[in-house]
Amino acid sequence: MTAYEVEKALDTMTKTMYNKSIKECSDKELFYSILQLTKGYSSMQKDIDGDKKVYYISAEFLIGKLLSNNLINLGLYDQLNEILEKNGKELANIEEQELEPSLGNGGLGRLAACFLDSIANLQLPGDGCGLNYHFGLFKQKFENLQQKTEKNDWIETQSWLNDTKKVYDIDFGYGKVKSHLYTIDVPGYNGGKNHLNLFDIETVDENIVYNGINFPQWDVSKNLTLFLYPDDSTKQGRLLRVYQQYFMVSSSAQMILEELKSKGHDLHKMNEHAKIQINDTHPSMVIPELIRLLTQNEGFSFDEAVDVVSKTCAYTNHTILAEALEKWPVDFLETACPQLVPIIRELDKRIKNKYGYNEKINIIDSQNRIHMAHMDIHYGYSVNGVAQLHTEILKKSELNEFYKLYPEKFNNKTNGITFRRWLLSCNKELSNLISSYIGNEYKKDATELEKLKALADNQELLNKLENVKYIKKVQLSEYLDKTSGIKLDPNSIFDIQAKRLHEYKRQQMNLLYIINKYQEIKAGKIPERPITFIFGAKAAPAYTIAQDIIHAILVMQETIKNDKDVSPYMNVVMLENYNVSLAEKVIPACDISEQISLASKEASGTGNMKFMLNGAVTLGTDDGANVEIHELVGDDNIYIFGKDSDTVIKLYEEGTYNPKEYYDKNNDIKNAIDFLTSDIAMKNGGNYERLNRLKNELLYKDWFKTLLDFEDYKITKDKAFKDYENRNEWKKKMLVNISQAGYFSSDRTISDYNKDIWKLK
Ligand SMILES: *Cc1c(COP(=O)(O)O)cnc(C)c1O
Repeated sequence: MTAYEVEKALDTMTKTMYNKSIKECSDKELFYSILQLTKGYSSMQKDIDGDKKVYYISAEFLIGKLLSNNLINLGLYDQLNEILEKNGKELANIEEQELEPSLGNGGLGRLAACFLDSIANLQLPGDGCGLNYHFGLFKQKFENLQQKTEKNDWIETQSWLNDTKKVYDIDFGYGKVKSHLYTIDVPGYNGGKNHLNLFDIETVDENIVYNGINFPQWDVSKNLTLFLYPDDSTKQGRLLRVYQQYFMVSSSAQMILEELKSKGHDLHKMNEHAKIQINDTHPSMVIPELIRLLTQNEGFSFDEAVDVVSKTCAYTNHTILAEALEKWPVDFLETACPQLVPIIRELDKRIKNKYGYNEKINIIDSQNRIHMAHMDIHYGYSVNGVAQLHTEILKKSELNEFYKLYPEKFNNKTNGITFRRWLLSCNKELSNLISSYIGNEYKKDATELEKLKALADNQELLNKLENVKYIKKVQLSEYLDKTSGIKLDPNSIFDIQAKRLHEYKRQQMNLLYIINKYQEIKAGKIPERPITFIFGAKAAPAYTIAQDIIHAILVMQETIKNDKDVSPYMNVVMLENYNVSLAEKVIPACDISEQISLASKEASGTGNMKFMLNGAVTLGTDDGANVEIHELVGDDNIYIFGKDSDTVIKLYEEGTYNPKEYYDKNNDIKNAIDFLTSDIAMKNGGNYERLNRLKNELLYKDWFKTLLDFEDYKITKDKAFKDYENRNEWKKKMLVNISQAGYFSSDRTISDYNKDIWKLK
């Protein structure tokens, strides 16, 4: 496509839609025009085809805005940029008009999105399957220094969604409902396209939502596809999740069988033409649902169905936190999808006949709960963890009983990120700089970034790298000033922790450090250079302590803002509504990447990879993929602290950890924790109930052992700040991090999935 052709097409589009020329259109009108134009171009792309296709079923797809990404993949970005500039418009302003899809929550959903991008980029046939949540995950606001939740109304009349007009019947216990299929195109960087299939209940009713994110939980026909992860603190809420899961997998299974049949494939050999990747346990019911459809509609015997389904489905485990491994009461399925219960009972019976009664591997336990992961492992052909350490822990402890039964099923697939979004699109300054030294080959083969390592002594490159980082810090500062009046000093160190709020990720440890720093400055110990501590995090509405931690961070932000002795030297900023669009602005501006989870608890992390790729240096525990980052960059280019995973696992086994001991013997810890309920905190808007609860949690429970690692954290973090002043050494650390990031391209991850699990081409 030449720039001239694209300009003519856009001009025709704005004339047809608004009867205006490009120049006369507002940014919003231009956004809608370019949206339609882009959808037109991508609909003309051929479907990526092949004899075998993968279906990636996931409750979440955190895809982020699509305009820029799709323009890049369709090869239209530069032309449009030029055309708009010529007409006095800026593509960046038009990109701001797009509302970010709200179909995901955190890392797991973002991984699914990166995978769709890489599958299409590698020209592999592969679709996503999920739900079309109208209000998705909530939108976060801060009021009275507390998190407030609002519905995220992201679907506009004109959107990336295509209506296929296809409908599937879904049998719920109370009757039939209809599932309507929408799709979003996923264009590959090298041409062709795949799809994200999003199912929606036809009778959905947005008007039943009231007062933020409340809605009648019993009214399934109306509420089913309104929200991602409805509040599960009530029985109705948990039941709703089962309804959602069954709706998702029954729709997906019907669509997959329909596609196989339309291509003329023999369903007895379905495993040779379809692979189904089960992303965490939310889609696990696809296994019994496929068995049901094959036996009831396709004349399969039970044995035949089990055999072929087991060769088709593969399971990815994302966590070893016990509370996240789903176990649903049989009763819930009796209510939502009773037709699956006899099938699951039969699957369970076969396991019990073969291996006897053993809660560690049975599907239905003695309390009549169905262990979704257990079903996946027995009746799937592959089980993978998402980073080396994580997979080792699965094999050695969490799933050891299964590993002994099926060693051949277990494999590791270290997570990755798409460099097209997390470098080429969000940090053009950096990617241009890289290109000017090593050419463009790294855009196709990310391991080419290693060539940068040989340039670690190139002073000109190091200075330019520092300058790019400065530019990205200025851009973030300007954006935050414009959108929320927040002022940052781009000459300060940007220390950033951006990820979902969870105690295992230990934002509270970072908070204690900040309180300690504040107290040091009050006592006259001034840091060499001002530090900006940035957080971005949403907390699940039913997760009280997580809300308390957000409140405590906001109180510190307020305290420091109001204290003229301290504010010249440190600043705390809690960003509102952290999402992909904000991540794309925040990550390129980061100096120090906080990856401080309790060792053994973070399965992989992908935020750590995005920060590294953008030249941040990691301050972290030897946990998840940090272990692999550490191996790749070496001790000198990362700051590792804290007890290792073996020690932590042993501590849990012994059950002797007592946080109060740490409080009693370490004054920094004592003073920081006492600050939470101090007069100063109260004067700065602190809510006593929340802060006192957090204090007690840390003193008497601290399940994720914050205090265990605090002292080491402080020493290591202080060292990182000190090293930052040795500017040239620091720039080399930045460069080494970028040069070693190639391994974490999701193109590598997906070719590993393809080579070992899917074998598509
Ligand atoms: C990458 C990403 C995450 C995952 O971050 P982790 O640090 O791996 O937990 C969460 N949210 C958004 C918006 C992301 O882009």
